[in-house]
Amino acid sequence: MGGGAGGMGGIGDIFNDLFGGGGGRGRGGPRPGKDLRTNLDIDLQEAHDGVTKQFSVARPTRCDECDGSGHPEDADVRTCTQCDGRGQVTRVQQTPLGRVQQTTTCPACEGEGETYSEDCAVCDGSGITREETTLTVDVPGGIQDGQTLRMEGEGAPGEPGARDGDLLIEVRVEGDDRFERDGADLHLTEPVSFPQAVFGDTVTLETLDGSVEFEVPAGTQSGETFRLKGKGMPRLRRRGNGDLYVNVQVVTPEDLNTEQREALEAFAEAGGEEIDVSEGFFEKIKNSL
Ligand SMILES: [Zn+2]
Ligand SMILES: [Zn+2]
Repeated sequence: MGGGAGGMGGIGDIFNDLFGGGGGRGRGGPRPGKDLRTNLDIDLQEAHDGVTKQFSVARPTRCDECDGSGHPEDADVRTCTQCDGRGQVTRVQQTPLGRVQQTTTCPACEGEGETYSEDCAVCDGSGITREETTLTVDVPGGIQDGQTLRMEGEGAPGEPGARDGDLLIEVRVEGDDRFERDGADLHLTEPVSFPQAVFGDTVTLETLDGSVEFEVPAGTQSGETFRLKGKGMPRLRRRGNGDLYVNVQVVTPEDLNTEQREALEAFAEAGGEEIDVSEGFFEKIKNSL
């Protein structure tokens, strides 16, 4: 759901970047290409290991037909009549605060100062066509949700002679069912039985680093947290890994067979506890639920 919508958003952003925003052409020299933005979704395991991802972007590309000029080579050139070749137009507006002068890029020639007798048939004079492009990016292990990778020169094309823009890829790390992430540290809840908590046990934990043997100490309380050093996420651009915190939860059984019930009653009795385990009481509770 998020992925699909995000993808569309990404494409929308790209075209907003390209076609929105007035930014007038600087004086002198061809205009460099704009940076484009897109999103990339990865899961926590991929964020842990690092991953090479292929993805596609609808990227504006310099028009092959006219080499980005927007007009056929043999088109006649005229000085733009709207701006007299200046490439900019000045508008004067009357506002409650007085007269406001606003200089913008000339809409007729888009700042070039010249118009052509004919537009390129392929790109309609923009010099740019849209193309679905497949790119490959290396996402480093340890990347955080929301961090941005930059691919140089993979953005919108610059005008002939100017540099191309960059592609900025916002990486989104999907939430995980088992692990909660806090920077480079991970948190995990591990259910154990009452006997395991009492006697201690060795349990196999599936971490992002693979299986590890985890020693539940004898006498563990429900809610106790243990730290497995270095079993968290890699630290981006630093050495080592964060830690994995294992929160042990002692699971209270909801259904006991006769043997278990008798054993627990004997356990309580041996400890001198008096528990009213009358069947009628439990029935009442259950029925009222
Ligand atoms: Zn003009
Ligand atoms: Zn063209």
